[in-house]
Amino acid sequence: MNAKADATPALDLARIRADFPLLARQVHGKPLVYLDNANTSQKPRQVIEAVDRHYREHNANVARAVHQLGEEATGAYEGARDALARFINAPSRNEVVLTSGTTQATNLVAYSYALPRLQPGDAILTTVMEHHANIVPWQLVAARSGATVKAAPIDGRGELIVEKFVELLTPEVKLACVGHVSNVLGTVNPVRELARECRKRGIPLLVDGSQAVPHRPVDVQALGCDFYALTGHKMLAPTGTGALWAKKEHLDAMPPFFGGGEMIREVRFGGTTFADPPHKFEAGTPNIAGFAGVAAALDYYASLGFDAIRAHERALLDHATARLREVPGLRIIGEAAEKEPVISFLLEGAQATDLATLLDLEGVAVRSGHHCAHPLMQFFGVPATLRASLAFYNTHEEVDAFVAALLKVRKLLM
Ligand code: PMP
Repeated sequence: MNAKADATPALDLARIRADFPLLARQVHGKPLVYLDNANTSQKPRQVIEAVDRHYREHNANVARAVHQLGEEATGAYEGARDALARFINAPSRNEVVLTSGTTQATNLVAYSYALPRLQPGDAILTTVMEHHANIVPWQLVAARSGATVKAAPIDGRGELIVEKFVELLTPEVKLACVGHVSNVLGTVNPVRELARECRKRGIPLLVDGSQAVPHRPVDVQALGCDFYALTGHKMLAPTGTGALWAKKEHLDAMPPFFGGGEMIREVRFGGTTFADPPHKFEAGTPNIAGFAGVAAALDYYASLGFDAIRAHERALLDHATARLREVPGLRIIGEAAEKEPVISFLLEGAQATDLATLLDLEGVAVRSGHHCAHPLMQFFGVPATLRASLAFYNTHEEVDAFVAALLKVRKLLM
């Protein structure tokens, strides 16, 4: 679909790209073509300046000082919580726990929600296409409790087999965990439908939204899940920022995971009482400057609007898919009907890492490897793929430059 065909406002790419200082860089003497956005996004100057401003003008610790700077820092940090709550339509800001990223969020649920509930013979259900951050925490708590981790299968197109997922929602399953969007395949999972099936059986559903939030508006209430984990650095914000949204009833019932300052009501050797959620889960000094950047990142998304972002990304994905199909011997891994702009592929006769190294010399940054998704690589019977992952600031010309570079380096390896 063309951005102009459906009257969706088109993105002003020249203006947008001017906001991202790093996009103007050269790599190995070539203009950078950054197609590793699923790994981490680049940051607009608005985010960089928000972090810089925080340290220059407002730096102090949060929630402890009554002085002006302390109030400003607390305002920035708590303001990011408000902005994140609005961004995912959380019913309450108090249901948004600020974390260092998705990994901390899933581990928090593993140790604080799952572990106290799991009995020998219980199970956690996840899927074959998950990132390790949505597999390994479940394995760790399963090993401690005598529970098991089951994985719902996918088909050769890289789509979850929903009937099998539903079949696997047996009474021993105490938690189901699914990625909203696959970081390797781009597959968009039917989270609403999965949540409905989980609800019917009284099984809570955790959604790993890391790869969804940079591309589509998310409404946790409409999705109907219980937990939603996200990371800031893939959506324009600084590294070391993220959030876990969870229903109040779950947060109220969960014991704290980390202990320390900020998360208590009163500490006595006879027994310590804890702050209410979300602070109960936020021990220690957080990444305050990073969260000042999160608020700026969310403002940036709001200034563009997801309608325009989605129209452009769809057009880019279609263009990149069509262009890659022209490359002889190229096989795309992941051809789901509904995808975000992530394309994994293999080139006959060439190692993914060799290709990525040669592409780097052409200024093209793509990722090669297992993408923290070993079970998915095992499913497709490959050790690694190359992955081009696009963002709204990428252009059709960059896609063409990437394909031209691929055709060039392919010759060197054949
Ligand atoms: N889940 C998915 C789907 C991801 O792509 C990533 C990042 N590659 C993560 C979880 C982990 O995110 P973080 O390292 O920011 O915690």
